[in-house]
Amino acid sequence: MSKILLPTSTAGSLPKPSWLAEPEKLWSEWKFEGDELLQAKQDALLVSLAEQTRAGIDIVSDGEQTRQHFVTTFIEHLDGVDFNKRETVRIRNRYDASVPSVVGDVSRPKSVFVDDAKFLRQHTDKLIKWALPGPMTMIDTLYDGHYKSREKLAWEFAKILNEEAKELEAVGVDIIQFDEPAFNVFFDELNDWGVATLERAISGLKCQTAVHICYGYGIKANTDWKQTLGNEWRQYEESFPKLQQSKIDIISLECQNSRVPMDLIELIRGKTVMVGAIDVATNEIETPEQVADTLRKALQFVDADKLYPSTNCGMAPLSRTVARGKLHALSEGAKIIRNELAGK
Ligand SMILES: [Zn+2]
Repeated sequence: MSKILLPTSTAGSLPKPSWLAEPEKLWSEWKFEGDELLQAKQDALLVSLAEQTRAGIDIVSDGEQTRQHFVTTFIEHLDGVDFNKRETVRIRNRYDASVPSVVGDVSRPKSVFVDDAKFLRQHTDKLIKWALPGPMTMIDTLYDGHYKSREKLAWEFAKILNEEAKELEAVGVDIIQFDEPAFNVFFDELNDWGVATLERAISGLKCQTAVHICYGYGIKANTDWKQTLGNEWRQYEESFPKLQQSKIDIISLECQNSRVPMDLIELIRGKTVMVGAIDVATNEIETPEQVADTLRKALQFVDADKLYPSTNCGMAPLSRTVARGKLHALSEGAKIIRNELAGK
């Protein structure tokens, strides 16, 4: 779809300006309310777009400037979930969190991100990617006292996500991405209904679709979990065969500084692969050569026209300076490989 070889993008979130919300923190509170907040979010979206454009990123996003959290913000806009009725659950088998409860049938009374996407579309001619949470990751961030079935709730969310995705497509989004970090944790459910609900979420879409599967933001609960995973991280082995058979076009995964064996990419042969060539769990900025090195390794298992250089995950918890440096390294690294391929 992209005319550029090795088009760069980010997994999704980028740091927010300190005037909008307290930086380097997840679930950071907004510093404005009402119309002022709406204006401030739009301004931040433009800043984020300018940062990506300046860094030479080819497929741009909203940097998730209008959301507090990649899952919660979407759910906040749905009916059937009570944010005042909170229960403590274990998120992705990793850490306890106080989460809202499903108290009735879930539905989407109106679009969630469509106005934001329209606004982004008006301000750039570049390809746009929009991230939504995936069904399995959504149910894992809630207490369900209504359906009492993770599968049933996932199918309901898939239907809602599909409605939102179709509206995003209609306002000119080129790639719709579903974030499913839960695919690296719940392997039985993944095989039983995880990929099937994801396919329900993309049904009828004509734009490109992606699934982002990672090892999470660089927060302590995630880095502690990674310590327990051993020398080789083979979690992708569980989802890749099913995804290879699915209708999803693009698979976004974590490769930089991770212990994921690169040859696992072989399992998704034929798909476009967004290779994470930027580590989001460190403040150290990669050199373009380090990025190029990761891309070179990936090219052993994916054809050049199907390789999209990206980041391991979102960069919301990083400082703006660090994130900016990483964006530049990503596009400089991709340039090195483009030149190498052109010289062949
Ligand atoms: Zn991620």
